[in-house]
Amino acid sequence: MHTLPKIRTNPHSHWRSGRLKNFFLAIGACLLSQAALALTVALDVGHSLDYPGATSARGVPEFQFNLALANTVKPVLERLGFTVLMIGDHGNMTDLRVRTRSAKNADFFLSLHHDSVQPQYLSWWSLKGKMQAYSDLFSGFSIFVSRANPQPKTSFLCACGIGESLRHRGFKPTDHHAEAVRGENRQFANRLNGVFYFDDLLVLKTASQAAALLESGIIVNRADELELQDATTRNTIAEAVGDALDNCLQPGVRLRSGK
Ligand SMILES: [Zn+2]
Repeated sequence: MHTLPKIRTNPHSHWRSGRLKNFFLAIGACLLSQAALALTVALDVGHSLDYPGATSARGVPEFQFNLALANTVKPVLERLGFTVLMIGDHGNMTDLRVRTRSAKNADFFLSLHHDSVQPQYLSWWSLKGKMQAYSDLFSGFSIFVSRANPQPKTSFLCACGIGESLRHRGFKPTDHHAEAVRGENRQFANRLNGVFYFDDLLVLKTASQAAALLESGIIVNRADELELQDATTRNTIAEAVGDALDNCLQPGVRLRSGK
């Protein structure tokens, strides 16, 4: 008859496994709290395939620029710990209210666009035998916020942050939206950072969270268009947006988590 070997227990192993367990529990709790606290940014890809917005100086629809930029901003925000909800990235979202309704649970709504100018500023050039409209008169980014948004203060702070972050990376704001001409006449919210009030802008005023609309640059400007088509430029814009939202939104997370 065999006697079972006596299991020798190391008094320290128990302690070690207990400590290990606590360690993993702590990590789990930490990850869980981070996941629960991760803020969601709704990235709204401006326009659609059927209504693609402005046309660039070289005949490229704005929607393509907006989509390429959104696809660049998304991973940057995710790396910073945000959850990203893409709105309109399939190109079939034509109802603006559906956009903001789809984003109702997000913490911030960022609409991505590329700019044009009023028709009186357009000239024509021939490109591969086709006449295209362009204007090299204005250049740069602009950001819109609405005072009809339910969180105008956060909207304003984040918009200023995006503008500042872009400026620090060498981008310049345009002030052509403040011109006293038909279709413009926008009031500056913060001139230095290229922020304008556009109170009636539907996605901004129907958003249930803080919101801003970024016109990343003017695609009817021939030089700007080339810049904006460049992947490096897109990455830099994405980094600027990420830094700004990390600054203007994440402090709330730190506050709520007691950090
Ligand atoms: Zn647009």
